Amino acid sequence: MTVNGYRIHQWGGPLHWEAFEVADPQPGEVRLRVEACGIGLTVLNCIRGDLANESATLPRVPGHEIVGRVEAVGAGVTSPAIGQRVMAYFYLICGACEACRSGQDSLCVNLAGWIGVHRDGGYAPYTVLPARNAVVLPDSIPAAQATAIPDAIATPLHVCKTRARITPGDRVAVIGAGGGVGVHMVEMAVLFGGLVAGLEWTEQKFDAIRRAGGTPIRSRAFEAIDLRPAWGADRPTVVIDLVGSRASLAWGAASLVLGGRLVVLTTFRDVDPPLSPREIVLRELTIVGSRYASRAELAECAQLVAAGRIHPVVSHVVPAEGIEHVHRALRDGTLIGRGAVDWNL
Ligand SMILES: [Zn+2]
Repeated sequence: MTVNGYRIHQWGGPLHWEAFEVADPQPGEVRLRVEACGIGLTVLNCIRGDLANESATLPRVPGHEIVGRVEAVGAGVTSPAIGQRVMAYFYLICGACEACRSGQDSLCVNLAGWIGVHRDGGYAPYTVLPARNAVVLPDSIPAAQATAIPDAIATPLHVCKTRARITPGDRVAVIGAGGGVGVHMVEMAVLFGGLVAGLEWTEQKFDAIRRAGGTPIRSRAFEAIDLRPAWGADRPTVVIDLVGSRASLAWGAASLVLGGRLVVLTTFRDVDPPLSPREIVLRELTIVGSRYASRAELAECAQLVAAGRIHPVVSHVVPAEGIEHVHRALRDGTLIGRGAVDWNL
């Protein structure tokens, strides 16, 4: 079928609104009618070519936080079925290696790339995905809200449940708490019983941090950060760093209580944090990376949202012609939570 949607023709280049062909699903694939697609910093990173920049994969439809309904299936696909509502799992995993078989999907050893980078994503009204990337989603969650689930909410669940292992009473500092992942990280850490300080330098995002259950803390200069409004004079037991600069990582490690945990989620190249082995040993610090989430965790997040335990923060929902506007708000740092394009608007 021929559709109108957005594609890029070079990594780092502009979005082109154009007509192109969406193929019939091949064996093991499903075709979705896209209801909505999330717009966040990761999409901008993908468009810029930060995840991969081979020219062989162009042109490409960006957008990985896809919510839609299965409208055609290829040979051999038994699940999901035609008519089922699904969300997209971001990583192109093999489904067969030891990591995939044990439910650690994001550690797949045969990773073939990412939706929106190596396969077309949701900046178009139809898209084709591997069936294993289509995770069933309840009908009750509005489409734009649901786009926050497969990354912006699932990534925090993986951090809080599996990596930081937050338990009631943990004092959790989230660096970069007003962004799309950050505001949901605050909500999730609160749900796990943490007292949460949300570090953010844009004051317009403070209300969203408060609504998520955290205490907003001004973080324009790391040496001036004062966590006392969140929980008094004690040091944090957990720091979750979504900024990933030398300064933020150094502050995170230095501010932790003895035996504290620093969770790192950024992948910028050429960041060289000053962490000495002596300090890590004498203060018995735990420094952990956290990589996306599993398909099972996506499904758990959908249940949490459907049950009203996690509230997606999607502040800008736009028709197709509004995507560039949301991209600008992201670049300016003014977008609160996530944005989404709704293909029914
Ligand atoms: Zn695998």
